Amino acid sequence: MRLRFVGCGDAFGSGGRYNTCFHVTGEKVNFLIDCGASSLPALKRNGIGGDEIDLVLITHFHGDHFGGLPFLMLDAQFNRRTRPLVIAGPQGIELRLEQAMEALFENSSKRERRFELRIVTLAPAAAASLGEVEVTPFSMVHGDSGGPFLGYRIEVEGRIIAFTGDTEWTDALIPLGRDADLFISECYFYDKSVKNHLNLKTLQAHLAEIRPKRLILTHMGEDMLGRLDSIACEAACDGMVIDI
Ligand SMILES: [Zn+2]
Ligand SMILES: [Zn+2]
Repeated sequence: MRLRFVGCGDAFGSGGRYNTCFHVTGEKVNFLIDCGASSLPALKRNGIGGDEIDLVLITHFHGDHFGGLPFLMLDAQFNRRTRPLVIAGPQGIELRLEQAMEALFENSSKRERRFELRIVTLAPAAAASLGEVEVTPFSMVHGDSGGPFLGYRIEVEGRIIAFTGDTEWTDALIPLGRDADLFISECYFYDKSVKNHLNLKTLQAHLAEIRPKRLILTHMGEDMLGRLDSIACEAACDGMVIDI
């Protein structure tokens, strides 16, 4: 199994990084975790055609995690996609997707498609099977707009991938990431405590409880990016590929 950090940036392009989008491929799976506004050009830069993707998991409705979907959908329509596509995310995803498509490309949500689109609503603690992908959503803490906010523990082809999405510290991160083969954690700041996001010091204080087999930091702001040479943790960069 392989995961590529197509984009690992924050909402503001810090460090010139693309918005959040991870591409996971295995023997039987090909899916995205989040699809931020810049994700279609980032996917194409990495030679990934949208047509191969069977599933997109969305953590929340902020543009840097969700805003690429209208572009992905339109690209699929123009490329005459026939392969079915599943988009799964928090409560309200069907309406949010329609609104985003209409805001960016008027009438695009109403056009007839050659492919079957299935929208799946995910809820905290309700595990869902999406083909070969088993996902358990956890409720995250990330402010009062753009939610519900979910983090995902994903079981696929015998591996566990856990992703925080965007969140401040919550004890739900412990079961979300416990013993995961790969735990991808947002890490906006180094030690500054702010609402809605995590900092490295807080994360490190809990790592002994989470015990991930491998931790990779993502969604770093300028504060963290400026310290990458001096921290002991592994951090993502755009285009990075890892075997799980
Ligand atoms: Zn974000
Ligand atoms: Zn967010």
